[in-house]
Amino acid sequence: MTEKIIEALKKAESLLESKDLDSHAAQLLMQFITDKSNASLLADMREPLTPHQKRDFWKGLNEMLDGKPVQHIIGEELFYGYPFKVNEHVLIPRPETEELVQGALYRAKKLFASGPIKVADIGTGSGAIAISFKKERPDAEVTATDISREALAVAQRNADRNQAEICFVQGDLAEPLAGKVWDVILSNPPYIALEEAQSMSKTVLDYEPHHALFAEENGLFFYKRLAKDLPKLMNKRALIGVEIGHQQGESVHALFAEAFPDAVIETVKDINGKDRMIFCEIV
Ligand code: SAM
Ligand code: GLN
Repeated sequence: MTEKIIEALKKAESLLESKDLDSHAAQLLMQFITDKSNASLLADMREPLTPHQKRDFWKGLNEMLDGKPVQHIIGEELFYGYPFKVNEHVLIPRPETEELVQGALYRAKKLFASGPIKVADIGTGSGAIAISFKKERPDAEVTATDISREALAVAQRNADRNQAEICFVQGDLAEPLAGKVWDVILSNPPYIALEEAQSMSKTVLDYEPHHALFAEENGLFFYKRLAKDLPKLMNKRALIGVEIGHQQGESVHALFAEAFPDAVIETVKDINGKDRMIFCEIV
C-alpha cells in the first residue's frame, strides 16, 4: 500500500513520542530518505513514498525506536552550519557547544582584532569546535587534540570535507600543546559524573563513547587538570573557554580563579538559562 510522506511522518512522530524519544528526529530521517531539504519536504508532504523509501524509512525508524541516534543513521550532524560526519567513535556535537564557539569567537575578536592567532581545541572529537572556529576565523592557526586515534580520524575527514586546515595531534589533554604558547584554548571535556549514568537515555549511553562523556571526581577531573596545566601554556594576553555541566559553574569558576588570579572569569549560561561555559580572559 502506498503511504504519503505526511502519513508516515505523523505515525513515526507519535511512535517516537510514545517512547519519550525526540519526535523531530523523524523529520530528519525523512529528509535523508527522500533527499529533500527542510523546505521542499514541507512543500511535498502529500507525495507518496516509493516502495524503497518506505522500506528504508521504517527500517531507520525502528532502529531509532531502539534508541539509535538519527545522526548515526544519517551519518552526520550540522554544527554551526557545517556538516560533520559522526560515528560510534565521537560525541555527536551538541547545540550547547555552538554557544561555546560563538562566545569564543566574540571574545577572541575583542582580544585579538586582527593577525594570526594560535588556537587549540582539547578533546576535539568530531572536530566540531576546531573546524567551525577556523571556518569563522580563517586567520587562526588551529591545533586540535584527542586521546582517541579513531576520533582524530573522523575529525580529519571533517576538516577535509569542510576545507579547514587544522593540525591534529594525538595525546593526553594539554600534553600535545606543551612547548608552545597559545592565544586561545577551548575544550568541551568529558564532564558527566559517573553516578549520572543511571538517569541518562539509552540513545546516549548505548551509542556514544563513554570516554567522551564521563569524568571522575564528580565530573570535575578534567577541569582540575586543565587548571593545573594551562597557566604555563597561555600567552600574556589569552582566552580560555570550556563547556561545563549545568551544576559545575561554581566549582569550575573557583578552579580557574585559583589558577589565573589576575584573569577576568565569567560563568555564562546557555540558551536554556543553564550555566554552560566558563570564559577566562587573561590580559
Ligand atoms: N569537542 C567535541 C565536541 O564538543 O563535540 C567532543 C567533546 S567530547 C565531550 C570529549 C572528547 O575528549 C572526546 O572526543 C574524548 O575522546 C576526548 N578525551 C577524553 N579523554 C581525553 C584525554 N585524556 N585527553 C584528550 N582527549 C580526551
Ligand atoms: N552535553 C553532553 C551530554 O549531555 C555531554 C558532553 C560532555 O560530557 N562534555 O550528553
